[in-house]
Order: sequence, then structure tokens, then C-alpha cells
Amino acid sequence: MLNDLFVNVLILISFTFLGGDIIKEIPIKRMDKLDFKIILGICGGLLGVLMIFYNINVPGTTAIMDLRALVFMMINYVGGIIPTIIVGIIIGIFRIAHYGINESSVSAIINIILYLVSFNYINKKIKIPWKKWSCKLISVAIILISTFIYLLREMENPYIIIATFTGVIILAGVMEYFLLEYVRDSNRLLKMYKEDSTKDYLTGLNNTRNFDLLINNSFKTAIENNEKLSCLMLDIDHFKMVNDTYGHSVGDIILKELGEILIKNSRTFDIVGRVGGEEFCALLLDCPPNRSLEIGTKIRNAVKNHKFDIGEGRIINITISIGAATYPDNVESLEEIRRQADNALYKAKNSGRDKVCNNDTCIIE
Ligand code: GH3
Ligand code: MG
Ligand code: MG
Repeated sequence: MLNDLFVNVLILISFTFLGGDIIKEIPIKRMDKLDFKIILGICGGLLGVLMIFYNINVPGTTAIMDLRALVFMMINYVGGIIPTIIVGIIIGIFRIAHYGINESSVSAIINIILYLVSFNYINKKIKIPWKKWSCKLISVAIILISTFIYLLREMENPYIIIATFTGVIILAGVMEYFLLEYVRDSNRLLKMYKEDSTKDYLTGLNNTRNFDLLINNSFKTAIENNEKLSCLMLDIDHFKMVNDTYGHSVGDIILKELGEILIKNSRTFDIVGRVGGEEFCALLLDCPPNRSLEIGTKIRNAVKNHKFDIGEGRIINITISIGAATYPDNVESLEEIRRQADNALYKAKNSGRDKVCNNDTCIIE
């Protein structure tokens, strides 16, 4: 008996890690979608069926013992009630199709309904994860003990079997909780680190590394589609003076708000990154030179007119200079576009700041 239950435990552990490994690539938002829940339910159902194959048939009765109840708990923990219902349907159909209709399979169906009802109730009433899990485990144990007391009523001494099974399911249930928490925490950390490695910590914009990656992809798309691609290099004017006058933390507030202004005033499909301390770059897709100067001017004016709230009732204004370059108008190869935009930025700085320049012209209004 213990051997088969041990195989059940091993199957559960393997699926927990395997499932965790597959799920780690799926964004959290995607996991709320119905199609994910349906797939999760189907996988859980198949896992439950696999466990039934390693069941223990109690001699002289139709009762079978396995740890499929923990599959219900696991799927309920990961995906909520919808995939749990799917698990119930699959296991219920298999149980009857494979073993026929008898006392034991009818009670298995009743148990599935009791799991679903009790899990749903516990999910609504209890919010702390470990308490939720414990209550579900206790309710599963009560449902199973009652079922086996009834099904094994003809046996002379069924209590050792029932006690052993209950002990195993409780131990395996506790272990499964820690495994699920471990897998979930590892996946969460991985997702967080992945996101952090692409974003600038202060502004939330693309960091230099990710910006370079995105820029390379945009180059390819621009060449394939024969599109114009513009680049804006932006630099805050006299930012050192802002830091020296108000302190570095105020400088940080300004950088953060500037990031928001850039996002608001560029188009949704443009790529914006913080590419240096107080330098930003916006890559404008499918954008000719005159349009890039327009967008640059819109950003420049938005910054100029923005009242930066630096705390204690103080408001300050800043200006920025912008250099623009466009492929293929100003540069022959896309790799040159940032260098050319940088040159235009120097032109803007050297001719008085607070303006948008490209190779040909500067806009100051
Ligand atoms: P210019 O108009 O020529 O661009 O003058 P500037 O003072 O803005 O340029 P400079 O290159 O002399 O100074 C840039 C300043 O940006 C110096 C540095 O302290 C500040 N800076 C760079 N990174 C950060 C940051 O992350 N936070 C803050 N608060 N300041 C930063
Ligand atoms: Mg600078
Ligand atoms: Mg500067």
C-alpha cells in the first residue's frame, strides 16, 4: 500500500516542478485568461487520471485509494475554481468509464462535488494562503475518511488502512504546500529580475541594454519595410546646476517626471529609453524628418511648460535640448543614427540650448 502511495507522491512532486517550469514563462496577466485556466484544468485532469492508475484497491471492496484529491487542491491553488471544475469533470468521467458504475465510483463523484463546494467556500472566507490550504486539507481528509468508513464497512478492521491513508495524504498535502510556495516564489523572483533587467530603476523606461536590443530590432523592421526611422537624443539643460542648487534627490524627482512626460508625448509605438544619467533617447518608428522635429518640439514644450513639484511647495521649471536624425535622410547606415542625433544635440547645446535641431535646421519656438 505504502509503495503505491509513494508513487502517487512522486508523480505529484514531478508535476509540481514540471508545471512550475512551464508556467514560469507565462506572464501573470495571461494566467487570468480563460484559455490558460482550461489548459491548466485539462493537465490537472490528466494528472489525476495518472494517479488513479497507481491506486490501491482495497481487497474485497470496490474502494480505491490514491492522492488525486491533492491534484484538486494544487489546481485550485494555481488557477482557482474554473480549472478545478475541469479536473473534476475529467476525473469523474474517467472514474466511471474505467471502473464502471458502482458504489465506489458514485461516492467518488459525490466527493468531487464536495471538494468543489468546500474549496469555493474556503476561497471566499479565508484569505491567508497557509490557512486556506490547511482548511482544504482538513476538509479533504474528513470527506475521504467518511467515504472509506462507509465503503469499507464490511471489513473487519478497516481502521489501520484508513489511518495510514489519512496520514499519508496529510503529510503529502503539507509537503505539497511548501513545494507550491517554493515554486511560486522562485517564478515570481525570476519574473521580477527579468523585468528589472530591462527597465531603468528610476524612470521605468527601457534601460540602455534593452534599448540597444529594441533599437536593433527596429533597424531590421525599418529596412525590411523600407521605412524612415528617426532618433531623438534629449539632454536636460544645466542639470548639474539643478543638482547643485536643490540636491541630488530633487534631481532624481525631475528625471522620473521627465520620463513620464516623454512617454506621454511620444507615440505609443515609439521606443523610449534612458541612455545616460540625464540623457534620454526616443526612437520614432516610420517617422520622416519634419515629423521628428514636430514630435521633438512637442516634447520640448511639454517639458518647458511642466511645473516640477520638488516638495515643500517649491515648483521649478527646466528646459531640454534635443538632437534629431533620420534614416535614410541624414545617415547612410542605421548604426550611425544615434551618433548623428548626438551631433545635432551638440549643435542645439552650442547654439544656446532649449531647442530641437537636426542636420539642417533648429527649431526654437
Ligand atoms: P548641459 O546643459 O550642457 O547638458 O549641462 P548639464 O549640467 O546638464 O551637463 P553636465 O554633463 O555637466 O551634468 C550632467 C549632470 O547630470 C551631472 C550629474 O550630477 C547629473 N546626473 C547624472 N545622473 C544623475 C542621476 O541619476 N540623478 C541625478 N540627480 N543627477 C544625475
Ligand atoms: Mg549630459
Ligand atoms: Mg545636460
